[in-house]
Amino acid sequence: MIRDNHFIKDPDIPGPTKEEVRCLVMCKSQVTKKDTVIDIGCGTGGLTLEFARRAAKVYAVDKNPEALKLTRLNLEKHGLEDKVELIDGFAPQIFKTISKFDILMIGGSSGELPSIIREGYRKLNDKGRIIVNSILLETRMEAVKAIKGLDLIPDVIEVSISKGRILDRGTMMIAQNPVSIISANK
Ligand code: SAH
Repeated sequence: MIRDNHFIKDPDIPGPTKEEVRCLVMCKSQVTKKDTVIDIGCGTGGLTLEFARRAAKVYAVDKNPEALKLTRLNLEKHGLEDKVELIDGFAPQIFKTISKFDILMIGGSSGELPSIIREGYRKLNDKGRIIVNSILLETRMEAVKAIKGLDLIPDVIEVSISKGRILDRGTMMIAQNPVSIISANK
C-alpha cells in the first residue's frame, strides 16, 4: 500500500482513502492483473493508484476537474499514469461512453447511487465486482438496497481504525471516522 503521506493533497478535494481502508478495498475487490477497473469519484486518486498498481487498466472518473488534476499529479509521482485513463464526467451518464469492466468502484455518487449501481452493473463483466465506500448512513442503506435489487448478496463491513500517535510519554490512539465497504460479486 502507498503511505497516506506519500500522496499530494489538496484541502478542497477529498481523499486519499486511508491506507488501512484502501487495503480492505483491495481485498474485497479481489483485483487481479487481468482486470479493468472503473473508479467513480477518483478524488485525490487514493484508490485509483492502488488499482493501477494491480489491474490491467483503470478508468478514473470525477465530476470535478480539479480532482482529476490532483489524481494525475499523484499518478505521475508514482509512475502509474500509463495504466489510467482520466475521464471528466458524471456517473451514471458516463457509463454510456465506456466499454465493459470487471470492477465497479464507487467512492462518490452525489445522490445518484441507485442508478450508478444499476447502470454500472450492465457494463460489468461476468464474475465482476461492485464496491461502494460510504461514510454516510444513508449511502450504506442505498447501496444494500440497490445491490439486493440486482439479486446479488451484499457483503457489508464497517471499519473503525485507530492509529497510534507516538508521543514522548507513550502511544496515543487516535480514532478515524468509521467507513463502510459494501461489495458484491456478479
Ligand atoms: N476514493 C477517493 C476519494 C473519493 S471522494 C480517494 O481515495 O482519493 C469522492 C469524489 O467523488 C469527489 O471528488 C467527487 O467530485 C466525486 N463524485 C461525486 N459524485 C460523482 C458522480 N456522480 N460522478 C463522478 N464523480 C463524482
